[in-house]
Amino acid sequence: MGVTENIRKIREEIAEAATRNGRQPSSVRLMAVTKTVDDARIIESIKAGVDIIGENYIQEARRKIETFGKSMEWHMIGHLQTNKARYAVNLFTMVHSVDRMELAVELNRRADAAGLTMKILIEVNAAGETTKSGTDAADAIALVRAIAPMPNLSIQGLMTMPPFFDDPEEARPFFRKLRALRDEIEAVGIPGVEMKELSMGMSGDYIAAVEEGATIVRLGRSIFGERPVR
Ligand SMILES: *Cc1c(COP(=O)(O)O)cnc(C)c1O
Repeated sequence: MGVTENIRKIREEIAEAATRNGRQPSSVRLMAVTKTVDDARIIESIKAGVDIIGENYIQEARRKIETFGKSMEWHMIGHLQTNKARYAVNLFTMVHSVDRMELAVELNRRADAAGLTMKILIEVNAAGETTKSGTDAADAIALVRAIAPMPNLSIQGLMTMPPFFDDPEEARPFFRKLRALRDEIEAVGIPGVEMKELSMGMSGDYIAAVEEGATIVRLGRSIFGERPVR
């Protein structure tokens, strides 16, 4: 199946899952994750109306944004090195992968220099995997509190990437955990902090993620097919 057809089917599934969750289909935004994807297929996904393009690498993103322009939003979803923060503030509408104070401080400083406010999500390592980036769930509120006063950053919600499972039901508890954490932080009521976004759900598990409250799903393989190993 082609990209356009894949997106049409995914949109339907998202709409059904959102409805089961008592939400409007429009409350879920579809991100196309375009790492390693060739330009022709990226163009097809843009024409098919994805809401957001997600990038993992600064270099790749910079070239693509120059090529395709900013008619849709570009979000950074990959691990961001602190010394690349200055590029990120000029390229992206939102950074999903803020998981440490050092990175937040640098993003805030660079956003200030660029005269803008950067939207960010706090990446949570919901499964506590030692190999993964993301702050531990137990430390998330403290990190939110520490970042909240930074004038050039705007916390919009949380992001997570659970372990890979063949059965999406095994990912569901981690989506629930992220939503519960979102609710907990929202209930604290930290000035300047919004908890409206839950960035969760990838190709193997996005239906479960939407059922558990995702507002952004990040899809690569289900839109574009398998990636080459690199
Ligand atoms: C690659 C990637 C995705 C998309 O994964 P698929 O399994 O191809 O849908 C989503 N989120 C992040 C952070 C990624 O790196």
